[in-house]
Amino acid sequence: MTPFILIVALLGLIIGSFLNVVIARLGTKEGIVWSRSHCPHCQHTLGFWDLIPLLSFLALRGRCRYCHAPISWQYPLVELTTAILFVLVFVVRYGSLSDLRPPTPDLSALSLELLALSLELGFVAILIVISFYDARTLLIPDSLVGVAVVSAIVSVLVRGGLSALTSGLLATVIFAGFFALLFFVSRGKWLGGGDVKLAVPIAIIVGWPTIFVTFLVSFWSGAVLGILILFYRKYSIFLTSVGNLDKLPLLSFLRKQESRGNVTPSRSTWIPVASGDRNDNRSAVSHEIPFGPFLALGAVVSMLWGGALLHWYVTIFGI
Ligand SMILES: [Zn+2]
Repeated sequence: MTPFILIVALLGLIIGSFLNVVIARLGTKEGIVWSRSHCPHCQHTLGFWDLIPLLSFLALRGRCRYCHAPISWQYPLVELTTAILFVLVFVVRYGSLSDLRPPTPDLSALSLELLALSLELGFVAILIVISFYDARTLLIPDSLVGVAVVSAIVSVLVRGGLSALTSGLLATVIFAGFFALLFFVSRGKWLGGGDVKLAVPIAIIVGWPTIFVTFLVSFWSGAVLGILILFYRKYSIFLTSVGNLDKLPLLSFLRKQESRGNVTPSRSTWIPVASGDRNDNRSAVSHEIPFGPFLALGAVVSMLWGGALLHWYVTIFGI
């Protein structure tokens, strides 16, 4: 089992490094596949030794080899996230290798299984791109949602056939329908149009009734970060005086959210704005958190453990 896990982890690191390029170049005029990587600061073309996932970042201590400008944390984080999620999907699906090695070697069953696994990993990769792009720009590009929808439909058909697709469509009507309702009732204040669209591929792949797990995980993880941000805003003066604490990745992420105040709103806030804040000069956008990463988190958790979590939830509450 261990060699397989290592191969999947390595695959995750390599794909993650490609996803970084997609996240960085999406929405720019630069081609995603054919143009060579360069330092965004000094424009120096990067060589082989600068592009090894994770290791280059560690060896260069997070700085460009040529101009010593700091390299964004996004790069190692995306590579590590991709590797960890790929391994999780693989281990959860094939915890014991007997699933991969049927008693009578059946090549067509094995290749179907590999196809299903690749499709699932592909969907997770799209979710990673959407999450990091959304965290940076507060936008979810329609093109990515489109790719996610197609990949979800094919993945569900390969794994579960028409009955699984029916369950996915039922989940879509209810999950995305509920989000669309929230969007229209709040006139886009509670969540953005991009979130409603992203709910569609997620509902298709998760299916009915596991989609409830997606809803609960996304909602609660988003709420916890929302509370953290409010807390941070309240105590940011204290944190600034502590100094170095501010350089921690989470805090610098929160700080970026904080400084979005003067940016034109591209998507509306999903956390209701406290009434007192409406009067000061900050725009409502400074409260804005991207909801896409939480939807993606909910999706991955329910793809992996949805059945078990739903069972646990139903037993606890005796529904
Ligand atoms: Zn440089």
